[in-house]
Amino acid sequence: MIASSTDARFPLAELHAHVEGTLEPAFARELARREGVDLGSFAEGETYRWEGFSGFLAAYDRAAALLRRPEDYRRLAYDYLTRIAADGAIYSELTISPDHARASGLSPETYLNALSQGAKDAEQASGIVCRFLVVGVRHLGPEAVEEAARFAAGASGVTGFGMAGDERLHRPRDFARAFRIAAEAGLGLTAHAGEFAGADGISETLDELKVTRIGHGVRSIEDADLLKRLREEAITLEVCPGSNLSLGVYPDAAAHPLKRLREAGLRLTVNSDDPPFFGTDLAREYAFAAAAGFGPSERLALTRNAIEAGFMDAATRQRLLSLLTMRALLLGAPAATQ
Ligand SMILES: [Zn+2]
Repeated sequence: MIASSTDARFPLAELHAHVEGTLEPAFARELARREGVDLGSFAEGETYRWEGFSGFLAAYDRAAALLRRPEDYRRLAYDYLTRIAADGAIYSELTISPDHARASGLSPETYLNALSQGAKDAEQASGIVCRFLVVGVRHLGPEAVEEAARFAAGASGVTGFGMAGDERLHRPRDFARAFRIAAEAGLGLTAHAGEFAGADGISETLDELKVTRIGHGVRSIEDADLLKRLREEAITLEVCPGSNLSLGVYPDAAAHPLKRLREAGLRLTVNSDDPPFFGTDLAREYAFAAAAGFGPSERLALTRNAIEAGFMDAATRQRLLSLLTMRALLLGAPAATQ
C-alpha cells in the first residue's frame, strides 16, 4: 500500500527525527514498570524533565535505556510513524543509533531488524514511507563513529549516514574517515552542525565530510559567505525550530531565523528532532513555519525539499513526488516551488 493520493490532509515529510527521541513518556513509564526502574518525576505528563544541552543528552540516554527488547523497538517505530502519518506525513527518515542499541544490550542487527519490521507494519497500515539513517555519536569519538559507519555500510534498509551528539567536542576532520566509509558504500550523508557551534563548524563539515545536508545549520544565518555557499551548493538544512527553542539556541520564536534562511534562498525542511523531549511534533513544526509567514505553497516546498534531499532510491523519490503533486492539487495550492 502507498499513501493515498486522494487524501486531503496537508502532506508533511521529515528528514531529522532520532528514533529513541520519539519515545513517548507514557510508553517510557510502561517500560519502566516492566523493568522495575524508578523514573521519579523524570517522565511525568507528556514530556521529559531535563535542563541544558548536557542535561538533554543525559535525559535522551536515560529514556533510550528503557528500550530493551526487539519488540520495544518495533513498537517504537510503528507507533511514531503511524502517529505522524495520521497528521499527514508521507515520508520519514528516521535516525537510528547502533550505539544506543548496544547500550540496551541488543546487537545493531537485531535493533535494525526490529525497527524495519515496525516501519514495514506502519507502511502497511498508513502508507507512510520510512528510510533509516545510521548516526554516529560525536562525543563517543572518531572510532565509535567509524564503527557506526561500518555497520551502516553493510546494513540492508539503511540509506544514509550522519553524526549527532555534542558538537562542542572534536573537529569535523576527525570524522572524515567514517564519512568516507559511508560514502563509498553509496550512503547519503548529513551531519549535525551549526546548532551550538557557530557558522565555522558548518563550513568545516562541508569541507571535511562532504555532506549534502546539514542537521540544524541555523547558525549559518550569521555568515553571509556561508549562506551563499549553501545556496550555490544546494545544501538542504534540516531545521528543527522546536528543538532550538527548547535547548535555548534562540530565546523565542521571533528570534528564530527560519524565515530569514528562506529569504536567503536556502533549501529548508522542518523537523521535530526528538519530539516529546521538546514538546513538539512534525505537525507543530509546520505550524511554526506557518506562524513564521510560510504560506501553503511555501510549506509544500518544505515537503518537496525533504523528498528531494531524502536518502531514498530514485523510484521511491519519484513516487513520493507524484503523491505530493496530487495532494497539492487536492488542496488547491499552486505547485510547490522553492
Ligand atoms: Zn538531531
